[in-house]
Amino acid sequence: MAKKADIPVAKNQTIEAEFEDVTHDGQGVAKADGYPLFVPGALPGERGTVRVLKTNKSYGYGKLLELAVESPDRRIPPCPVYHQCGGCQLQHMSYAAQLRMKEKHVRDCLQRIGKIAHADIRPIIGMGDPWRYRNKVQVPVGMKDGELVAGFYRERTHKIINMDRCLIQMEKTDEVVQKVKELCGNLQIPPYDEERHEGVLRHIMVRYGLATREIMVVLITRTDEIPNRKKLVRGIVEAFPDVKSIVQNINPKRTNVILGEETRVLWGRDVIYDKIGDIRFAISAQSFYQVNPVQTRVLYEKALEYAGLTGEETVIDAYCGIGTIALFLAGRAKKIYGVEVVPEAVADAKRNAELNGIRNAEFAVGKAETVMEQWYEAGLRPDCIVVDPPRKGCEPSLLETILKMSPQRVVYVSCNPATLARDLRILEDGGYRTEAVQPVDMFPQTKHVEAVVRMTLKEQEI
Ligand code: SAH
Repeated sequence: MAKKADIPVAKNQTIEAEFEDVTHDGQGVAKADGYPLFVPGALPGERGTVRVLKTNKSYGYGKLLELAVESPDRRIPPCPVYHQCGGCQLQHMSYAAQLRMKEKHVRDCLQRIGKIAHADIRPIIGMGDPWRYRNKVQVPVGMKDGELVAGFYRERTHKIINMDRCLIQMEKTDEVVQKVKELCGNLQIPPYDEERHEGVLRHIMVRYGLATREIMVVLITRTDEIPNRKKLVRGIVEAFPDVKSIVQNINPKRTNVILGEETRVLWGRDVIYDKIGDIRFAISAQSFYQVNPVQTRVLYEKALEYAGLTGEETVIDAYCGIGTIALFLAGRAKKIYGVEVVPEAVADAKRNAELNGIRNAEFAVGKAETVMEQWYEAGLRPDCIVVDPPRKGCEPSLLETILKMSPQRVVYVSCNPATLARDLRILEDGGYRTEAVQPVDMFPQTKHVEAVVRMTLKEQEI
């Protein structure tokens, strides 16, 4: 490890740097006499002037002051607030370069962390149009110079920056937010003041069902009462005939958590509907629902293909959320069991099964690692297990239960290539072979990447 004296650069020093690589979250990597410097916004192949901001033992951080040589992948970020918002990290690179970088990240993790050399890693599936894909938006509301503003918190602060449009949001959700903002301003509905814990309107949330065009508006308030509530509701409904649900969610607490516990319908239904493939989903204000419906379908089709079902199989969908993958697979399976830790999501899953006339799906509330162990003890031996865990990956005990259940197939859907690779290694050591890996870009312009993996139980050697 380098001693202080060995570090070739010092804080506040200005150097000429050449960028060799980019990290998976969009920071350029330059080497100063072999010492890596991470510089946000720089791209491989670029050269420029960098100020050293911080030096650690084995790497440091810098700020790009000026570019001498630009990469052909460099783009001018189309969003005017790209640098203040922090929601997107990759708008300064071409979409082709984003895809290349994400695919490489999956490949690198599998090789370095998973030590998986043999898997067939397919070219990443990107979007034809990598903008305007999100179906849900939630914006904080505040007051600036006597005007109601809504937009986003400046990165790492609680200062609200007003925003007229967000280029990764579907146009419709943008339009609705702007209208609600205008109506609330005109009707003098007081925005929430975080410091004093006063005022009414905390957040505006809009959800849009791309397949059905149905719109939900959620007004998140500190108080029970909304001044001029009826006029506000009328204004929204008159402006957007596709609004099918307006609900109020009350969050009286001093907290960063957006939604409170109580939700009441102000107008229309408590849910909107959407479809992925042939499956209909009822989505409430609190439901977890994938935000990129176009790529979600691509991802689930891949999961279905990798599951290789014939109609005779028993399947487990672990970390099932509102049952999306389970319901997508149900038509090709004999029986499917879903397990999820959030009780409201499981209630949605059951309701969605009913909505689609699906009778071979059963859902349980609980930790996947606990419930699956109970199922194992009760004798359940599925043919296929699908897991779709949060970023931290699967609990080791759940992987052990998978090995004991020894299904022919495991389909792993992951939003974090590093934990994916770690978990695949454990399953490989337990007798599975990673056959195919399909990265999918669910979140263009951001650093996130999703992947779906097919693993098959190796033939027992005698
Ligand atoms: N498969 C779903 C949701 C995936 S997100 C979809 O595609 O829509 C991951 C889910 O895992 C979340 O719903 C989260 O609530 C749930 N979860 C997190 N930890 C869990 C655990 N230990 N056991 C079961 N579910 C868990």
